[in-house]
Formats: sequence, structure tokens, C-alpha cells
Amino acid sequence: MPSPVAASVQPAVNRMAVRAPIVRLPGDPYPGLPGVPPGSIPAFPPPPKAIRPVLPGGPLAPALSRLATSQPVMFITIDDGVVRRPEARALIEAAHVPVTLFLISKVAAKDPGYFSALQGSGAVIEDHTINHPSLRHKPYALQHKEICESADRLGEMFGRRPLLFRPPYGEYDQNTRKAAHDCGMKALLTWREATNAGHVYYQTPVQKLHAGDIVLMHFRPAFVADFLAILKAAHDANLTPALLENYLA
Ligand SMILES: [Zn+2]
Repeated sequence: MPSPVAASVQPAVNRMAVRAPIVRLPGDPYPGLPGVPPGSIPAFPPPPKAIRPVLPGGPLAPALSRLATSQPVMFITIDDGVVRRPEARALIEAAHVPVTLFLISKVAAKDPGYFSALQGSGAVIEDHTINHPSLRHKPYALQHKEICESADRLGEMFGRRPLLFRPPYGEYDQNTRKAAHDCGMKALLTWREATNAGHVYYQTPVQKLHAGDIVLMHFRPAFVADFLAILKAAHDANLTPALLENYLA
């Protein structure tokens, strides 16, 4: 009878199986991205070597919506995992940019091979709870369970236990920060800009990305349009997508 440990390493097999080459079909400018017009994916200079911010110590994980940096970088984060568009891997590979995925562990468990393939393309998988409840005003024990057990499960599925946490809906309180710290999270992250249906929505009066901004999108039907909108916004602001973990984890 297979042990739970044996079951938990199964996705590593999936990861090998799904790494098929991405094929460019006649007439499509980008491999695996039918209908994406030529020139849609901007080119970026490589990100600079990360100068890591000094985070405050103590019993509460710091809560950050952006990173205090003067380096010309921004950070792409993609949440949940509910709608798994097949173009995601091809798009991330064609763009040559790093991304951080905050996955609901219960959702990731439905299709770990999909996310393992993205991991193989450079995505880093982080913690977004088991069940996606709003944690604000919830008891510490519930928050601790949602954060710690999700990190454990994602670690088993993808071979790396998360080090960053995003609270569902961006809603948190002091217990969330304490539980995140106690579960080994280096920081609790929200965002400065959100993306939907191909539009970037700015949360500051200046309709522009700034160095250190964290941008949110989701695994939704408009994955391609949302991702391209973020790349354009970064390019327009002369910022290069960089990996959040190089700064924080
Ligand atoms: Zn979410």
C-alpha cells in the first residue's frame, strides 16, 4: 500500500512528463501562443543583482505592498490557480521574466503538474493558504493552520517549502503577521497594482509603476492579456521584472 510520502512525491514525476517542447506553428510569432501578435512581448534588460532590503526582526512578519528599492525593478505575482490557461508556460518562457505564484494549496493539488511546469520555467511557488478564507479577525489557531499546513503541502508537492505569504483578499491583522512569522514566512505581501481583463489598475494617483512595486494578477481566463498588460506597464516605466525571492527569501 503506498505511503503518504510516496504519494507526495508524485508531482516530481509529473514535472518530468509535462516538459514537452513548446512548438511554434506556422503564422504564430511566438511558440505556443497562437494569436499573440508580433511585438506584443517587450524585451527587458536583465535585472540587476538584488540589493536586499533590511527587514525588521521581531515576532511579526513584515507586511509589504512594495519593496523599498531604488533599483529599476518590479515584481510580478500571480495568485490562486483556479483557471489554468495552457498558454501560461509559453508566455512566461517567451517573456523571459521571473514570476512568483501565490497558490491555494487545495487548488494546486488538483493539478500539480501544471504548476510544476511553470516552476520548470522559472516561477517560484509561495503560500496563499489552504482554503482562501479572509484571515482578518480570525483566531490565531485558524490562521496558523491555514498558513503552516498550506506551506507544508506546497513544499511536499513542489519540492520547496514557501518562504513568502500572501493573505487572501490582501486582508490581514496582527495575528496573521504573527502566524506567518511562526510558520517560517519571511514576509507577508500585498500589492500596489492589480490587473484584470487586460488592464492594470493603479492604486496611487500617478498612473505608472514605480521601482519596487509588486503587481498582482490571477490565473484567470484573460491570463495572456493580463500578463501582456503588466509587461507593457513595466516596460513603459523603464522597469525590469525581477524575482521577489532574490530580495526577500
Ligand atoms: Zn487569492
